[in-house]
Amino acid sequence: MLKIGIVGISGRMGHALYDCIVGMDGVKLICGIDRNQSSLPPGCSVEVKASPEELSELPDVFIDFTRPQCSLAVLRFAAAHNISYVLGTTGFDEAGRAVIAECSATVPVVMASNFSVGVNLLLALVEQTSAVTQDSDIEIVEAHHRYKVDAPSGTAISIGEAAARGRNVNLKDVMVVGRNGITGERQYGTIGFSSIRGGDIVGEHSVMFCADGEIVELKHHASSRATFARGALRAAKWLEGKGAGLYGMPQVLGLKR
Ligand code: NAD
Repeated sequence: MLKIGIVGISGRMGHALYDCIVGMDGVKLICGIDRNQSSLPPGCSVEVKASPEELSELPDVFIDFTRPQCSLAVLRFAAAHNISYVLGTTGFDEAGRAVIAECSATVPVVMASNFSVGVNLLLALVEQTSAVTQDSDIEIVEAHHRYKVDAPSGTAISIGEAAARGRNVNLKDVMVVGRNGITGERQYGTIGFSSIRGGDIVGEHSVMFCADGEIVELKHHASSRATFARGALRAAKWLEGKGAGLYGMPQVLGLKR
């Protein structure tokens, strides 16, 4: 039985994970971490603390959907206590990514900006399309609920990275985020990002490859957070018996990219 701890158990993804784990074979939720103890999933009776140091029993794996500062602190704890990690939080800066790389030298970590199977397929298709349509202008449009705090979404950035990989360039050299005022003409080879925030949109991502005379558009639509929760749990099970390292969903799903 794989013992799981949910980091951010009171949050939207924490609730989705809780609903998925209940009744699932081979896994057992044993604890949660959240500074907010007043919005736990209904029926939740496992130990929940504000930090991992306070837990009386430690899990085999943490599944974390919180905020970068929280994730880095819990990940450091996990590395020191030999606990595997599934990291779904987005919005890490370079220093944060360095901490993740450092911790994954000690324990196995699966990190993904999007745990859905469909999005990971989309990434593979984006890389392929970008390579084939070398001269097309790439524009990425994403839409999320009004509570999302980072933009562009982590998934949109992963899509941009896949598109950049297809053309052997670095995303940071070609990325254009948002446009306003007199922007001048579109620069050849750039990859544009636009973000929409509103309502309860779970996650929409669209990639347009605009050439003279034709447009190829690839789209993904997430209608429920359960898709991310199921993918994160699949990653947690996949981690069993793995050595230290930083893994991604393509490895979990056996997708070659
Ligand atoms: P949320 O705000 O609903 O939940 C976050 C939870 O983390 C809250 O309950 C909050 O109390 C807790 N938290 C924050 N800081 C904390 C701290 N320092 N100590 C203890 N608890 C703390 O957010 P959400 O919608 O569940 O999303 C969480 C993260 O997951 C975001 O970064 C989001 O972008 C990301 N996300 C990733 C995927 C994916 O597939 N990778 C999918 C959905 C969301």
